[in-house]
Amino acid sequence: MLSQRIFALSLWGSIAGLSTLLFLLYPLFTREVSAQIIISNPIQHTFEEDAIHSTQIALRNGEVLANAILRQLPNAQGVYQAVATVGTGFDLRRIPVGQEVLITYAMEEDTPIIQSLLLKENRTLQTTQALRNTEQGFSLKQFSEYILMEQQLVSGTVTSSLYVDGIAAGAPANKLMEMFDLFAFNVDFQRDIREKDQFDLIYEQYFDSHGNAVRSGNIIAAKLVTQQGVNESFRFEYEPGEVGYFNRDGSSLKKALLLMPVQGGRLTSGYSARRNPVYGYSEFHPALDFAAPKGTPIMSAGDGVVIHRGWDPKGYGNYVKVQHNNGLMTLYAHMSSFAASAPVGARVKQGQTIGYVGSTGMSTGPHVHYEVWVNGVRRNPRTIVNTMSSGIELKGEQLERFKEHIRTVEPYFS
Ligand SMILES: [Zn+2]
Repeated sequence: MLSQRIFALSLWGSIAGLSTLLFLLYPLFTREVSAQIIISNPIQHTFEEDAIHSTQIALRNGEVLANAILRQLPNAQGVYQAVATVGTGFDLRRIPVGQEVLITYAMEEDTPIIQSLLLKENRTLQTTQALRNTEQGFSLKQFSEYILMEQQLVSGTVTSSLYVDGIAAGAPANKLMEMFDLFAFNVDFQRDIREKDQFDLIYEQYFDSHGNAVRSGNIIAAKLVTQQGVNESFRFEYEPGEVGYFNRDGSSLKKALLLMPVQGGRLTSGYSARRNPVYGYSEFHPALDFAAPKGTPIMSAGDGVVIHRGWDPKGYGNYVKVQHNNGLMTLYAHMSSFAASAPVGARVKQGQTIGYVGSTGMSTGPHVHYEVWVNGVRRNPRTIVNTMSSGIELKGEQLERFKEHIRTVEPYFS
């Protein structure tokens, strides 16, 4: 339908000349978009209110934090422990002159006993606090004192493209890109998206004390209704600190790519997207390296087609490229040899052997150098793999909690 409309437009344009320009400047169809703010959820402001005394100091030029505190409160106890604790969350070597420090303390006879130190970073509004917990000295607390987080819903109907209509509805571009990543292996964005398809995107939005949007946070839920069906994805913490995106049944969306294309590999070199301005290329490594014994099978990270295999004496050595859906491509380098069953043009399944670990090309030992490309750009495999799926199925108590979670989120879908 979309392609038909574009065709009609260009045909009409070739006849009408100038009118085409005017036509392009105005929306073709009325948009059905809405944006509204839901659930208000201010981050709690913790503050030591029952401390007996408080005082504020400002750091002088050349002064270290502990000395500044002792200048104000001679003989105070707990200064060094409190400063050491703050130092685990605030870079004390870069503490600016004039930095204000809020101190609370109790008096025991004539000795001030430090209860807390609080520093606020002016640029990020991040507050770092060392807080006495009577038994073990101090613990670190960090919070954004003046930042409010709200969950924001953007929903709309596709009239031109999901991206254009998403932006028009008020979605941040980076959240839209993440939504594409979430559904990348269930929806073919080139072919499946049609006019009148519906989308809902719920995400975290942070505001400063003046109400300005500071930055967006995580996608909480996303829904995309196409002619092929309903796609939903819900963010869920299934174990403390372990978060994934799941469909309504509690399965993570199809595991699009493997993070590690060799079994039992050991990560020896991480991803670094930037060229170091001083050392040139030395830190530039847009890939993950996994060491494994020579001859270990290298697996295709996802379903796809082998589009290249060849020899690069200066860099990759023997290497293979596999094309996946939606502009995803993976590359595997330094192979000792290729798999006979995976020549160029072969359809391969996730986990299928495409070659064997070696040390060909620029390599110091047997390992696979693994790159993930998205639309022609190398991206961090870890980020891409994590965004797409966790490969986990929720069961039992986790599934119960997840279903409860969905019940709180889905009323906000349009
Ligand atoms: Zn490498």
